[in-house]
This record gives sequence, structure tokens and C-alpha cells, in this order.
Amino acid sequence: MSAALFDLTGKTALVTGSARGLGFAYAQGLAAAGAGVILNDIREELLQESVQTLRSQGYQAHGFAFDVTHEDAVESAFAALEAQGLQVDILINNAGIQYRKPMVELELEQWQRVIDTNLTSAFIVSRAAAKRMIARGQGGKIINIGSLTSQAARPTVAPYTAAKGGIKMLTCSMAAEWAEFNIQSNAIGPGYILTDMNTALIDNKEFDSWVKASNPSKRWGKPQELIGTAVFLSSSASDYINGQIIYVDGGWLAVL
Ligand code: NDP
Repeated sequence: MSAALFDLTGKTALVTGSARGLGFAYAQGLAAAGAGVILNDIREELLQESVQTLRSQGYQAHGFAFDVTHEDAVESAFAALEAQGLQVDILINNAGIQYRKPMVELELEQWQRVIDTNLTSAFIVSRAAAKRMIARGQGGKIINIGSLTSQAARPTVAPYTAAKGGIKMLTCSMAAEWAEFNIQSNAIGPGYILTDMNTALIDNKEFDSWVKASNPSKRWGKPQELIGTAVFLSSSASDYINGQIIYVDGGWLAVL
């Protein structure tokens, strides 16, 4: 009985920024739980390679390249999905970027790009998905990707921190407006995870030592360790959870 709670058979999930990294892990995890998955990213070639990888593992996967910060591109993509008979039951707003720069050196364009990619995109894509979920009347699941910085600031990542803090309250706003339509909107806040986004930090001995020393688990997280939370929040097991952020950080925030 409990396994059925996590079964995503018959559902279709769109995961943004999923050609690699955590997005790819979420897509693979949801596919393994039975969902058809729609991968999105900017880079078409990498995206198609990732789609092929999932198909070669026996999963139902599609790829749609578009920039999640462009309203028109997002609307066109949803129209194209519908034209192919695909409806989005589960959305994971995962696409994100990060610059590391002290605020006094940060250019406005850099600030804006980080806010657009990590925060505004979640509004744009969720709006497109939610209005269709509401029209269909079958509910849905929206998972926004926050961060440790949704809760705690660190130096040199001001726009990222502002965006991820915004994700936390955007998630609450979605719950406030869409819960009555049986749409559950929640967020995941990953800790320090071994992905390409962190390559420079992983290679930096001082930073690597700090991550290991400050985390009670004494290590970085692995992308696969985020999958369980994504499947849970996509499934009927979480139908009465709304507006929450679940941190998957090895206990980092618990001892801050
Ligand atoms: P990666 O950089 O490895 O992957 C992010 C993907 O998003 C890339 O493929 C990137 O494409 C794509 N992307 C960037 N901008 C856009 C856009 N405008 N439209 C569509 N796709 C886009 O990052 P991670 O997998 O590490 O991170 C995924 C999410 O998790 C992000 O939101 C990040 O902030 C969050 N997170 C990650 C943590 C970590 O430790 N790794 C910790 C906390 C949160 P391209 O290759 O072209 O840049």
C-alpha cells in the first residue's frame, strides 16, 4: 500500500534545467517512479543526449529546449507540448545559475540575470503550468528549488541568496493561491551538492575543507540523495503538504 503512494505512473513531469546536474537526477528519479518526463535546458545538444540516456534506460522521455527566463519562449513551449498531447502534471523549477562576486563589484546586469534565472523563471513557468492545471481540474504538483541560502546568507552570493529567499515565499504564495485547486506547491533546499555548478568550489581546498568541517555529515551531498524528496513531493504521499521547503543538507542548517 505505501509503495502505491509514491507511484507516478500516468503522470508527466517537466523538469527545467535538467540536461545535467540535479535536474537530470530529479528527472531520472521521477521516471524510475513511473512518470513520463520532459527535460528542458538551453543547450539543445546536451539536452538531446540526456533524453537519449533516459530512453536507453527504458524511460519515456522528451526534450524541449527553451530559456525559462523568456516569457514568450515558455508560452510557446507549453503550446508545443499540448500540440504533442503532453500535459504537465508535475513541474520542477530547477534551472539556476550562480555568480560569486562581492556585492560592491557586482554589476546590475549580473544581479538581474541571477534573479531572472533563479526566481522570475519559477513564476513564469509555474504560471504557465498552473493555469492549465486549474483549467483541467485534476490538480498538480509544483516543486521549486531553493537552497541553504533560502534560510542563511553567505558572502559573495547576494543575488542568488535574494532569489532563493524569494523562492521560499513564492512557494508560500503559490500554496496560498492554488491549494484550493488541489495543486501542492513545495520547495527543496539542497545543501552543498557535487554538481558542475560547484566545480570551482570542490576544487578549492579551503572551501572543500570548510564544507566538510561545517556540515555534521562531514561531506558534500550527492545528486541521487535529492531524488527521494523530489519523488515524495511529486506523489500523492504529500497531498496535504503545501507551501513548505524541505532542506536536504546533511544537517548543515541544524547546527548553524
Ligand atoms: P547545474 O549548473 O549543474 O545545472 C543547471 C542547469 O540549468 C544547466 O544545465 C543550465 O544550462 C540550466 N539552465 C541555466 N539557465 C537556464 C535557463 N535560463 N533556461 C533553461 N535552463 C537553464 O546546477 P545544479 O544541478 O547544481 O543546480 C540545479 C538547481 O539546484 C539550481 O537551481 C541551483 O541553484 C540549485 N541548488 C544547487 C546546489 C548545489 O550544491 N549544486 C545547492 C542548492 C541549490 P547551462 O549548462 O547552459 O548553464
